[in-house]
Amino acid sequence: MSNTQNRINPGVPFTEFSNPKAELITEDAHNALDIYCPQPLCRSFILRQNIGLQPYWRLTEMMDFENIGFLKTIELTGIKYLICADCDFGPLGYHETNVPEKEYFIAADFVRYKKEDNVNSLV
Ligand SMILES: [Zn+2]
Repeated sequence: MSNTQNRINPGVPFTEFSNPKAELITEDAHNALDIYCPQPLCRSFILRQNIGLQPYWRLTEMMDFENIGFLKTIELTGIKYLICADCDFGPLGYHETNVPEKEYFIAADFVRYKKEDNVNSLV
């Protein structure tokens, strides 16, 4: 785990997509690519492709995340911020604890995306 060569993020930032709407969103409004932590030296895999729903990547099941961390609930608003489970970077999105349906949101322009599938990295 201390080998820094294994810590290089396989994803690229949102800003590197010339046409994010076409490249990042599937026809049925899901995330087209695997999603990673925004930090270049962290390689935490957050969300598999085709799970989150636009306009933020919206999930209704916490178990749909590959990896995610949470900050403590803010009492006043019932909001829990989502952070990277590996490096604690964030917030990457939020979860509202006081609505009837569970919802989790990831900021689409903040996380990194893995452009092509590399069979060797699907561990
Ligand atoms: Zn991270």
